[in-house]
Amino acid sequence: MLPKMKRTIKIKPALIALLLVALAIPATDAQARRTGGVRDVAIDMVVIHSTGGPTCDAATGKPIWVGAGTLEENIRQIEAHPILGIHYMIDRDGTLRASVPEEQLAHHVLHYSGHSIAIELVNDGDGRDPFPEAQLASLVRLLQDIVQRRGITRDGIKRHSDIDHGKMACDETQRRKVDPGKAFPFKAILNRVFPPQK
Ligand SMILES: [Zn+2]
Repeated sequence: MLPKMKRTIKIKPALIALLLVALAIPATDAQARRTGGVRDVAIDMVVIHSTGGPTCDAATGKPIWVGAGTLEENIRQIEAHPILGIHYMIDRDGTLRASVPEEQLAHHVLHYSGHSIAIELVNDGDGRDPFPEAQLASLVRLLQDIVQRRGITRDGIKRHSDIDHGKMACDETQRRKVDPGKAFPFKAILNRVFPPQK
């Protein structure tokens, strides 16, 4: 009896610990990653980004272009980031994913994150990669919804490149933020969300 009991006592805590670790990691992780700070000002802006864009390569210290990547990769990366976050991401086929709740702050742009909502579009952001209609239609539906709920004006819809004119740390001749890029039909999208008055 005694040896058996001893064995049980030895195994049980180990199993419980394993179970706790297995259960605790995903739960805490997901909660931490999809939670933003508390907003202290009202939302009056939506910022449109693309997942691709220029960055400084850590290995070479030179500017490189990071491509669009997949929705899943991007969601995973941003939600694993200790500081950065976004509210929505839209895939090329129009699939919409929510991340940080709108009511919470997500750090996605310098100076404006406190009062803005971030939408990321899966795209290279290089001005050549086309935005499929399914993706744009999904964006228009989301913008119409946000604009109606939040009373945001046409002027409150911005491209990331409209509000960050900074230069790259590794190359001061290049802008750090040019997304979503010239292939993004910004005016046409604004006209679909805010139809011109007849
Ligand atoms: Zn951006």
